[in-house]
Amino acid sequence: MSGEQTRDRRRRVPRTDAVLADPRLTAAVAALGRRAVKDAVVQAQQRARRGEIPPDAVADAAVAALPRHATSLRPVLNATGVVLHTNLGRAPLSDAARDALHAAAGTTDIEFDLATGQRARRGRGALDALARAVPGAGAVHVVNNGAAALALAATALAAGRDIVVSRGELIEIGDGFRLPDLLAATGARLREVGTTNRTSVRDYEEAIGPDTGFVLKVHPSNFVVRGFTSAAPTRELAGLGVPVVVDIGSGLLTREPLLRDEPDAATALADGAALVTASGDKLLGGPQAGLILGDADLVERLRRHPLARALRVGKLTLAALEATLRGPEPPTREALHRTPAELRARAGELAALLTAHGADAEAVETTSVVGGGGAPDVTLPSWSVALAPRLAEPLRTGDPPVVGRVEHGRLLLDLRCVPPAQDPVLAEAVLAAAGDRD
Ligand SMILES: *Cc1c(COP(=O)(O)O)cnc(C)c1O
Repeated sequence: MSGEQTRDRRRRVPRTDAVLADPRLTAAVAALGRRAVKDAVVQAQQRARRGEIPPDAVADAAVAALPRHATSLRPVLNATGVVLHTNLGRAPLSDAARDALHAAAGTTDIEFDLATGQRARRGRGALDALARAVPGAGAVHVVNNGAAALALAATALAAGRDIVVSRGELIEIGDGFRLPDLLAATGARLREVGTTNRTSVRDYEEAIGPDTGFVLKVHPSNFVVRGFTSAAPTRELAGLGVPVVVDIGSGLLTREPLLRDEPDAATALADGAALVTASGDKLLGGPQAGLILGDADLVERLRRHPLARALRVGKLTLAALEATLRGPEPPTREALHRTPAELRARAGELAALLTAHGADAEAVETTSVVGGGGAPDVTLPSWSVALAPRLAEPLRTGDPPVVGRVEHGRLLLDLRCVPPAQDPVLAEAVLAAAGDRD
């Protein structure tokens, strides 16, 4: 192509202002912001200058390249069979919690009493809901996540002092984060007792002294130790004269019959724990948060500690947490309680529908897991739709993205974590992915 033609083509590429005057792009500026729309326009202009599209197609190309939302985060269908998938954002929120997020998103009475016009206790609705859910707690507090709850307890109650903890409970919680490092970073000293597999009440007793801040019990939430093992129960540690802080991890507030070995806040407090810490976005099924429940004086010390301000949660978290606690059963709990019979029927219907449309699909019996720091040794009988493994990638990159798991040379779409209302969406996604490849 001659230099003359190139110059001519470049001259005919419309200017940015002219392209942005297109009503579709003006509307997009209102929805997505000027920067995102301008980026799409500039890219379309560059394509026109390179001769990839005609100059009069710049506005169309910019519209086609617009992001759908102002956030790059995408809603994903979790067909992995992992109920709490850390890489997929752990617990999905209930519709009630999503509504609450919307209500709290603008200006809201988070710290204001509309009746009196005075300042009010921040997040009192969420705190009240948590206190009601666990009547055995003298007081409650909420921070940014489970790790923050533990860091605040260690800082407020044991900085410069000892935390007595079993060697079998010094865990790594994921992505290289280790609880002992977190605790040491607060200025507390770790006084390790017992061995990896066995720790007795005596071991704790011998380590406790005037420098003890508290005894820490950590639930090994992502592994199990089997064989010649023993651990000291909270009940017995509570009689040793120092506070016992129990990190239960998963956020069960009361017993869950399905998960017999999973500790819960109410039982830990009844057993004499001074404080319980837990995550909000694991088995509780709420937003990312750190729950602190227990002795009123200790909770107040944590709440009043200067570090508490650095760990405090926003109005969105408080809104979603309150709705999770007061509202209907969240999706995590629904996923946990789906029966194999129900999952089998859904997998059968989906497989039949897909087969009728020419896809190679079969309903198969599989197992799902809790995942994400909860019930490491529990498997839940489930049902999946098995597909050709080559569909994994187009499904993942489709709209909506569907994430399954490849096992024994098949792509499994495990239905346990897919809300039944999404089955038609799943079917359409599979057919689109299969069609793209044929
Ligand atoms: C998950 C977990 C944590 C960390 O909680 P985050 O909310 O992820 O910060 C700490 N302790 C235990 C036992 C856990 O299971």
